[in-house]
Amino acid sequence: MIVAVKKGADQKQIDNLLSWLRTQGIQPSLSVGSHQTVIGCIGDVSRIDIGLVRALDVVESVQRIQEPYKDANRKFHPEDTVVDCGGPKIGGGNFQTIAGPCSVESEEQITGIAKAVKASGASMLRGGAFKPRTSPYSFQGLGAEGIKMLAAAKKETGLPIVTEIMNIAHLPLFADVDVIQVGARNMQNFELLKELGHCGKPVLLKRGMANTLEELLMSAEYVMSGGNANVILCERGIRTFETATRNTIDLSVVPVLHHLSHLPVVIDPSHSTGASRLVEPLSVAAAAIGADGLIIEVHNDPAHAKCDGAQSQTPAMFDETMKKVRAVLPFACKDR
Ligand code: PEP
Ligand code: MN
Repeated sequence: MIVAVKKGADQKQIDNLLSWLRTQGIQPSLSVGSHQTVIGCIGDVSRIDIGLVRALDVVESVQRIQEPYKDANRKFHPEDTVVDCGGPKIGGGNFQTIAGPCSVESEEQITGIAKAVKASGASMLRGGAFKPRTSPYSFQGLGAEGIKMLAAAKKETGLPIVTEIMNIAHLPLFADVDVIQVGARNMQNFELLKELGHCGKPVLLKRGMANTLEELLMSAEYVMSGGNANVILCERGIRTFETATRNTIDLSVVPVLHHLSHLPVVIDPSHSTGASRLVEPLSVAAAAIGADGLIIEVHNDPAHAKCDGAQSQTPAMFDETMKKVRAVLPFACKDR
């Protein structure tokens, strides 16, 4: 962090600023120029409230030269993190596809879809039991029963299961769940993130629909600083002025996040686009740009799905998509 001191500041004010910085655990070093006086700050500045420093009378401007996240930062952890998702490993060159319906609807439905997506090459099963719906009148998910149905599908197919948590009080119901999903709407539910920091299970953290990548990484930091290093980042599109797609997906997040962080990056082409016909091109593009995985909604009967039917692929569409994804993976960008 570099602090520029206001012109006209006297020595006493500068000394006060230096000692205040020291109380924050920082080693300040003063450089007095003929036009500008600056203070270089060395140490862990991640805990400093930069807005507060900027607001001090004697301060002209402040520039952070180190990101506010540490555990998620590639600078402190140059190697890619590989997350074990109850068998399949993701990250560090390991690509995985998570597939399944938006919501679990019945044991027959989830088991049937699990078998189909497994046959097409998916390595994990998704399905919402607790659903974050915009309308309280929409299907809210089967809750604890839904998780039992996912567990039955896992028993039948061997596919590890990924499902969303909305309330930390539900955590005991997640004993059979392999990867806990934090949805876009809860990306900044900090109390939930803190608890997941010691839940002992990998967390698939979705980017909020109005959040920056730095905010996504700060949310990952909440989980990681609690002792859980197994975080998978997920881009699912953000809100923009564009209305042609449900959300806007900017695939540059993949190389950008890989540069900033060592965590695996998964793309969700279903919520990103809202349209099943767009899922295949976005999946292929995500694989080619170097994503570590995909999470795709697949439904046996999209027209009658209880949630997100318009963006759900049929098993046949998913099979085609997987073939094309496999074809591009050997040529995927690997730059970090
Ligand atoms: C989901 O995966 O079904 C979901 C609700 O996703 P998101 O949080 O990205 O909207
Ligand atoms: Mn959905």
